[in-house]
Amino acid sequence: MAPLEGATQRLQATGRRLTNQRRLLLKVLTESQAHLDAEGIYALAKERDPNISLATVYRTLNVFKETGIVQERILDREGQRRHYEIAGKAHYHFTCLGCGRVIEFESPMIEQASTELAKRLDLDIVQTRVHMDGYCPACQEKEIT
Ligand SMILES: [Zn+2]
Ligand SMILES: [Zn+2]
Repeated sequence: MAPLEGATQRLQATGRRLTNQRRLLLKVLTESQAHLDAEGIYALAKERDPNISLATVYRTLNVFKETGIVQERILDREGQRRHYEIAGKAHYHFTCLGCGRVIEFESPMIEQASTELAKRLDLDIVQTRVHMDGYCPACQEKEIT
């Protein structure tokens, strides 16, 4: 399902509408591949709608989070910045400790491990979070030179 369609349904299911500002924020989230925080989302949204406020962005992100449209992730080491992305395909994150770059990856092995564990321990696993830290190739090179 297209993100916009799915989001409209999720909003309607909780008696909400897809307003123009919500639509705009969804577009920003869908188009950017980066893991933006609220301020990053605000900066991009403001380019298209100068009337949008940071408070609206925060409020809208909360609505999106509540309705399961976006997922909130904490990807920095200090655990202070919240990043948002459209909820969807299972994927995992690697954060570079040098430059802060976030790399997404998919891994069938992690899904296998979770399926296996669910069976073995009779668990109903709802979500799997895997987050790795380390150094990206560029930062590893800086270490050597
Ligand atoms: Zn790096
Ligand atoms: Zn991600």
